[in-house]
Amino acid sequence: MAILQVARMGNPILRQIAAVVSPDELDSDAFQGFLNDLYESMLDQDGVGLAAPQVYRSQRVVVIQLDPDEEPMFLINPVVRPITEAQTWAYEGCLSVPELRGRVLRWVDVRVDALDRDGNALVFEAHDWAARVVQHECDHLDGVLYVDRAQVGSLAFLKEYRRFGPPIRGEGDEDEEDEE
Ligand code: ZN
Repeated sequence: MAILQVARMGNPILRQIAAVVSPDELDSDAFQGFLNDLYESMLDQDGVGLAAPQVYRSQRVVVIQLDPDEEPMFLINPVVRPITEAQTWAYEGCLSVPELRGRVLRWVDVRVDALDRDGNALVFEAHDWAARVVQHECDHLDGVLYVDRAQVGSLAFLKEYRRFGPPIRGEGDEDEEDEE
């Protein structure tokens, strides 16, 4: 396994529309090895999620692990849709935008249609923080960074965020330190 380098904001790889993964490629040892590397790289950076374009591979793959005691979840070719009208603001961070936090509006309840790493259909609903992480990661597959969606005036460097608190505080804000 290998720890992969993480691309930072400004690198064009982060702005591409990532390619769909074919079933044949998903089945290959090389691709399965890449999935392990993606996960290892996420752990190495203390992230809760990482998308393939963040490690210079423009394909529709993300790994998410919200609970370190649970198995990581690999989403291949994911499609995310809101299933209610509810939206909520919270601060996010991103491994590709180090040392920054910004407040982003996300769907509260989503449905995810994807393949798992074995190529089986993976369909589930995610809510609240899990839904937020899924939306953040899947945005990476479309070349979107959270700062594109962040509330004007909400961005703060992590050090100042910790010292002074969020510049804009609102109803429903969670205090998350995780990076995605
Ligand atoms: Zn990110």
